[in-house]
Amino acid sequence: MTTLPAATRTQLFLAGDFVNGSTGEQTDVVSPVTGQVIASIAVPGQADLDRAVEKARTAQKAWRKLGVFERAKVCHRIGDAIEHRVDELARLQTLEQGKPVAESIADIKEAAQLFHLHAEDALRLYGETLPSSDVDKRMFTYRAPVGTWGIITPWNFPLLMFTEFVAPGLATGNACIVKPPSNTPLAVLAAMDCLLEAGVPDGLVSVLPGDGPFGAQLVSHPGIDAIGFIGSSATGAKIVQTAGLKRSLMECSGNGPIVVLEDANIERAAKAAVDSAFYCGGQVCCATERLIVHHRVHDAFVESALAYASSHVVLGDPFDASVNLGPLNNEGVAAKMDRHLDEARRLGFDVLLGGGRAAGHPTDLYYDFTIVDGVSEASLLSQEESFGPVLPILTAKDDDDALRIANADRLGLQSAVFTESLSKAYRFIEELETGQVIVNDSNGWWDINMPFGGAGGKGTGWGRIGGMYTLHDMTDLRTGAIHVGS
Ligand code: NAD
Repeated sequence: MTTLPAATRTQLFLAGDFVNGSTGEQTDVVSPVTGQVIASIAVPGQADLDRAVEKARTAQKAWRKLGVFERAKVCHRIGDAIEHRVDELARLQTLEQGKPVAESIADIKEAAQLFHLHAEDALRLYGETLPSSDVDKRMFTYRAPVGTWGIITPWNFPLLMFTEFVAPGLATGNACIVKPPSNTPLAVLAAMDCLLEAGVPDGLVSVLPGDGPFGAQLVSHPGIDAIGFIGSSATGAKIVQTAGLKRSLMECSGNGPIVVLEDANIERAAKAAVDSAFYCGGQVCCATERLIVHHRVHDAFVESALAYASSHVVLGDPFDASVNLGPLNNEGVAAKMDRHLDEARRLGFDVLLGGGRAAGHPTDLYYDFTIVDGVSEASLLSQEESFGPVLPILTAKDDDDALRIANADRLGLQSAVFTESLSKAYRFIEELETGQVIVNDSNGWWDINMPFGGAGGKGTGWGRIGGMYTLHDMTDLRTGAIHVGS
């Protein structure tokens, strides 16, 4: 599939309808797979935002009152509708995003599953009865929707990131106005037909794909009660400045390490590290960005990683079922990889595999899977999230040194450790400064029930995406106190 079906949605989704933007402008969506313009989409303006906010605020009041059992039914129907269209949505997403179709299918299935999961979670969002020091009072807590959320998402998992907020948001009685990036809006817009089919009330969800400045307009809009953001830490920091005291759930960058200790199952570690370094072209917030290996098993690890990567990674057309690495999504990511690898060569690191853009493809966004050994802590590959298909290898003197290197980072999303020792596993779980620590699988592993997010004090943001925890973050804890005495 290199062209779009004629019925592809390219207008804004506003107040239950597909409409042209008030700006009258259009912007092109260029496929990283082919380099061709695949769609021209409507550009939203302030008038569209004002209208979306007004409609959302009205719709939210009724949606909240509808009650959780009815809301859960609608969420289940959305999940069903997405499941029915997995293949179509996946192919659309691959064309605009660049990831292999099998990965897009996994994303879309997970999105459907999230609507089902959060429908069920919402039915069990319990409050508590609290003992009071005043014998004439009865106190209880309950969870109330925050109101109208402004949701801003990135391009790496277009439909899944939309769903990570919208499924728990709707299940708990909120309204959502979503701004996907304008370079990957098509799968999200197409999924709006699933929401319509499921009976989502008009105006409760709007989708206004736009650029950064439009995102800033959304954040500062007085009718937006709360911000849900998934994207880079640099953008997250700007958003927080604009959002002021609005409620926010911030899911930002990662620079995740895998630590391989002396007693690790090396083959398992090497396979997991390589897989997680190139999945989705390495454009994953919890991708393996740094591999820290104990010096005594360094050579065995490198040998195993090289053997596995050389025989396993296949770069090419993401619509070809034998390919597992498609093009990068955009020139910005590819240029960042170039910068990191130029510096690696300048500093004399060993580029053992790959090392640059691959020739002979329709665009120059096809990047060879790359392994670099001898990486220093001070380098770009180590200090910055590369967000591309690269495995940078650093060597540690001992376990303490491995921990020090892993934690010497301003981000703290997800990490992993490979060891056969229970006590070492516990030590690393407790001492690695990330929101989640995975033992004996890669830091690219996640689960829909996992509370996923950054560790406090680091620059990855706050709040949790996953399971019941998101429902807590997207609702207010409210208290009722009743005087029962005379
Ligand atoms: P980005 O920060 O450039 O853009 C993210 C979104 O923010 C886009 O929709 C963009 O248009 C919008 N935006 C840009 N400037 C804005 C502003 N001033 N105000 C409001 N909105 C603005 O990030 P990206 O390049 O699209 O995504 C990659 C980043 O996202 C990586 O750092 C990755 O680690 C992170 N990410 C994090 C998670 C997570 O769960 N923690 C998940 C996926 C991606």
